[in-house]
Amino acid sequence: MITHSAPIKKRSAEESIILTLSGASSIGVLPFAIYRFLESDWAVACLDLFAVLALGSLFIYVYRTHNTQLPGRVLAFVSMFVVFVTILLKGISQLMWIFPALTAVFFLLPANMAAIYSMLILFSIGYVLREQLTVFLALEFYVTAIATLLFSYAFSDRMRKQQQQLTELATCDPLTGAGNRRAMEQKMLEVIALQRKEHNSPVSLILMDLDNFKKVNDAYGHAKGDDILRVFVETLENSIRSSHDLYRFGGEEFVVIADNTPLKEAITLAEELRLAIEKEGWLAEHKITISVGTAKYSPHETAFEWLGRADRAMYQAKGLGRNNCCVA
Ligand code: GH3
Ligand code: MG
Ligand code: MG
Repeated sequence: MITHSAPIKKRSAEESIILTLSGASSIGVLPFAIYRFLESDWAVACLDLFAVLALGSLFIYVYRTHNTQLPGRVLAFVSMFVVFVTILLKGISQLMWIFPALTAVFFLLPANMAAIYSMLILFSIGYVLREQLTVFLALEFYVTAIATLLFSYAFSDRMRKQQQQLTELATCDPLTGAGNRRAMEQKMLEVIALQRKEHNSPVSLILMDLDNFKKVNDAYGHAKGDDILRVFVETLENSIRSSHDLYRFGGEEFVVIADNTPLKEAITLAEELRLAIEKEGWLAEHKITISVGTAKYSPHETAFEWLGRADRAMYQAKGLGRNNCCVA
């Protein structure tokens, strides 16, 4: 059952990482900034203050906007910049700050970009400290830094892959690869929330139901029925724009949410989809066809009402003898 409220925006893993890193490091650096001011160590004090303000602003920005891509890059840059300049100003005694900064970079940037970025910083630090580092210390520094780099690479890569798999499991229909019902409901709520803010981009819902599909299962077996559902989705995906999402609503019922599409275009698309399926000859003795109902979103209606209108239009198409399109 689709709820009628606007979606509650949950924080993504990226957001949580950026909020934790920027919040914790902003608070963590603050006592050092105060200490440096009290010591009249103005250059480092200003640098620390810059770090506190930059990290604090990033925290507030991400907290409010949910944006992560640019803030992640800025945070990676600020951490590395502050660590590098601190080492430049204060020398070898500040070297240990590189370790948390290295780890952070791998959780903020794509793995390959983080690896290149970290190597550049490590070699720059080695160069800056060339007179203070003994051969043994330099060796120790590079071995520990590269070990940290490799562990961070492995963990962040693993985390990203698992996250991708989890998202796929939670939102994809395992048989056909189309979006599942949960993803469809989420998308509808997002679209409706957007429609309530700005009404100028029309959005339509196209509901399709395979005709007499029970007969296909009865005549050819359930496994063949499954194969048909898979090729059916492949065919639809080749016929819709990438911005139009395809979902499996139920057993043999599918939905296309056509964003930024006036009703006239949605009607044309529905007819194109019907024809695309009709012309396929997947089974020798049974023509696979669909009945289609199209409904443009009307201001103020709920997801449930919108889907209900498309469903009634689809049943109207069934009533016309199937293999038809009707509009709500
Ligand atoms: P109508 O034209 O009125 O829609 O007739 P229909 O036979 O398609 O409708 P009905 O709702 O009676 O049957 C739907 C059938 O779809 C029954 C069910 O076995 C089949 N079906 C639903 N999900 C799956 C699936 O995942 N795989 C297979 N093979 N069949 C499925
Ligand atoms: Mg059905
Ligand atoms: Mg059916």
